[in-house]
Amino acid sequence: MKNYMSILKDNGLKATFQRMHILEVIGMYGHKDVDEIYAEVVKTHPSISLATVYKNILIMSQNNVLVEVPLIGRKAKFEIKKDCHVHLICKECGSIEDEDIDLVDINSLKEVLSNKNFLYSGQELNVYGTCSNCSSIKVS
Ligand SMILES: [Zn+2]
Ligand SMILES: [Zn+2]
Repeated sequence: MKNYMSILKDNGLKATFQRMHILEVIGMYGHKDVDEIYAEVVKTHPSISLATVYKNILIMSQNNVLVEVPLIGRKAKFEIKKDCHVHLICKECGSIEDEDIDLVDINSLKEVLSNKNFLYSGQELNVYGTCSNCSSIKVS
């Protein structure tokens, strides 16, 4: 199990039990939207509100603990921040798959950014399409 307490503290956040539990849920499933995260967290903490879960997800996204993955026509999903990777996002079912592909030459990117005085903090690449499950359903 990942050390969620140190992830929070490394990013300047208090390791509250709500945040720890939200991270555990996301860590277990990879990518989840706010409603899905709430549905899992509330099983263990019945008194927690959707607003509290939402607020904590927002704070953790602003502090580099979580990353928001935008989806077309669906609620965005969140994942725990990790090394740059590519998302294969299915437009039919909204599934997200992580792929470790290096598509950007990071050194030339950083050179361009430093010429523009643009401070680099990370990158995301989201690829949209149809997953193998959904395309096989369409064929049959
Ligand atoms: Zn799909
Ligand atoms: Zn991912």
